[in-house]
Amino acid sequence: MTVNRRFLLRRRPVGDPVPDDFELVSEPVPGAPAGGLVVRNHFASLDPAQRGWMSDEPNYMPPIPLGAPVRATTVGEVVASDNPEFPVGTWVIGLNGIEEYSAILPEFFTQKVDVTAVSSPSKFLSAMGAVGLTAYFAMTDIAKPKAGETLCVSGAAGAVGSVVGQIGKIHGCRTIGIAGGLEKCRRLVDDYGYDVAIDYRGKSEEQLREEIARAAPDGINILFENVGGTVMEAEVFNLARKARVILCGLISEYNAVEPHGLKNLWQILVHEATMHGFLIMDYVARFPEGGAQVAQWIAEGKLRIDEHVQEGIENAYPAFMRLFTGANTGKLLLKLA
Ligand code: NDP
Repeated sequence: MTVNRRFLLRRRPVGDPVPDDFELVSEPVPGAPAGGLVVRNHFASLDPAQRGWMSDEPNYMPPIPLGAPVRATTVGEVVASDNPEFPVGTWVIGLNGIEEYSAILPEFFTQKVDVTAVSSPSKFLSAMGAVGLTAYFAMTDIAKPKAGETLCVSGAAGAVGSVVGQIGKIHGCRTIGIAGGLEKCRRLVDDYGYDVAIDYRGKSEEQLREEIARAAPDGINILFENVGGTVMEAEVFNLARKARVILCGLISEYNAVEPHGLKNLWQILVHEATMHGFLIMDYVARFPEGGAQVAQWIAEGKLRIDEHVQEGIENAYPAFMRLFTGANTGKLLLKLA
């Protein structure tokens, strides 16, 4: 291969991203920079967080520069190297871009991975990547579930949410999952072991509040929030005293021009709840530890992690937008090689 196709950010999206915010370009494959390497990316992770990085509002990372590839975690093979720690043939994950080849200087996120130990390198972006490990570390380090507690998860049929519910079950929790549509609700129960599934689509905040109240008569002890907006408002009315709220994501806000916010923030005080923001970036050094536990649960049949693979960099835009229409069923990945 002599051509490197790259999916560039051309314009900062306002509201829903549109195709003209991006450009697919073909460039020559780069050489390895001094001390660096060239990675042939096999899979790129498509994550809701990328929408935030496209904007120039304050974030935990600098905005993606205009004209640069859309930042993405990738897994791939080193094909050129000027760094003895990462010889040609090494497989790595790293925070690179949606592009077929990345010329990089290894930084804190660049890690070697053993692809012989897994059925597909994509597992390092799903089960043993930010998805499985977000669920794992946010649950075990922050939420600290106890047997008999009620765990409520929004975005429950998605990549992170589906794993959170299963980890809750492993710890003996009663689990309530909220997702969009009957088919996703069926999967919550049949595939991910949720005790109760609630479809949020087409429901007012009051209707949802009542449905959650019926599902959690003693209140929610752990709220694992992936969505925000009216879904979260309905949930916080139903918190138990001293509940823990894990703020993992607010996907309903990411394309909003005017943020909805949490109009009943007062309910956090009323229930003496604690709200904890979580960022997986803080746990990169502990990925091998978390990955080992997740792999063990999968091997024991206690955990199922689904992938939804879209093919080809030319499909990057429609693939990414699936996150916001709910059309992804599992960890959304773009296959590049
Ligand atoms: P998912 O696989 O869950 O896909 C996104 C899902 O969100 C969609 O399938 C859809 O499911 C739901 N959704 C989209 N738009 C809306 C909306 N307006 N209202 C309600 N639900 C909506 O993605 P991930 O598992 O990768 O991410 C889930 C959340 O976790 C995101 O908020 C993300 O930002 C966050 N996250 C945070 C991390 C951290 O370190 N803090 C790390 C990784 C993810 P449905 O069909 O059910 O509506």
